[in-house]
Amino acid sequence: MALRNFLLKCRSKIVQILLGNELQKSINLQSDGKLLNSLIRIIPRPSLRVVVISLVEHCNLNCWGCDHYAPLAEESFLSIDEFERDLNRLAELANKGGGISRIELLGGEPLLHPDIHKFTEITRKYFPQTRIEIFTNGILLVKQPDVFWENCRNNRIVIKVTKYPIKINWDIIRSKTQAMNVKLVFSGDTETVTKTSYHIPFDTNGSQNSRINFLNCYHANDCIELYHGHLYTCTIIPHAKHFSKAFGKKLHECETDSINIYDAHDMREILEFLARPVLFCRYCNVLARSHGYPWKQSKREIEEWIII
Ligand code: SF4
Ligand code: SF4
Repeated sequence: MALRNFLLKCRSKIVQILLGNELQKSINLQSDGKLLNSLIRIIPRPSLRVVVISLVEHCNLNCWGCDHYAPLAEESFLSIDEFERDLNRLAELANKGGGISRIELLGGEPLLHPDIHKFTEITRKYFPQTRIEIFTNGILLVKQPDVFWENCRNNRIVIKVTKYPIKINWDIIRSKTQAMNVKLVFSGDTETVTKTSYHIPFDTNGSQNSRINFLNCYHANDCIELYHGHLYTCTIIPHAKHFSKAFGKKLHECETDSINIYDAHDMREILEFLARPVLFCRYCNVLARSHGYPWKQSKREIEEWIII
């Protein structure tokens, strides 16, 4: 509360320093809430709150406008060896820098990975105190064998589900999780409110202002992804290649868009990196994002990811 009050008191000076007078006029920071959210993105966090890791690129649901571009991705599975190497290094960094509160194993659809149980065991081995979640669309839960549930119980894995408006027998899943003593939670308000879709468009010309995008982007410094030995400030950058490939676009990702966990000296360097806009931010059209569309499946058409 004290930090909040201090930031609000200094708001005009801070925004002026961060953006300069010209940009300050063109950004929508009218409400205290928006200003605070923007400041939180650019103030390095004291530790890594959440890290997400994609075990597969593809998905069995293929939602319209998916912001992991899973409907456009070819089948691809993360290797266990690479995963263990990266987690070992991440744990080494985290142990010296405040730990990690939560690790989410997701995709695409993570339950499509035939070795899902090995990923959970390795994650628990390197992060004994961290909350570990499998973040799934739930379709494959009913088919999981007892060994899967035993593994979840033994490694204290939380099953987090986004409940889509599709047919899934939730009674069976609830009974199973209760019988096996595995925690089941629903993402956002999807347990009670029907899931809708959002439109998160690119500007394929890369002509947007990176700083304005970053300050207004709810992914920025919040949806941190570990992807093939690199940490990204958001989940958009590492997966945008599926969009580029599918539609012949050149959204150029460069070396400075992520931080290599083997080159980083310590967690402080990483946390500072994650709190800054990167060159790739120019490809996002953050101020044109919109929400609340009835959920439907993707037709893999470009307008799901750009503004026509
Ligand atoms: S379930 Fe998730 S990963 Fe799969 S297509 Fe839908 S939004 Fe994308
Ligand atoms: S690349 Fe896009 S999604 Fe990622 S932080 Fe920048 S503006 Fe946000």
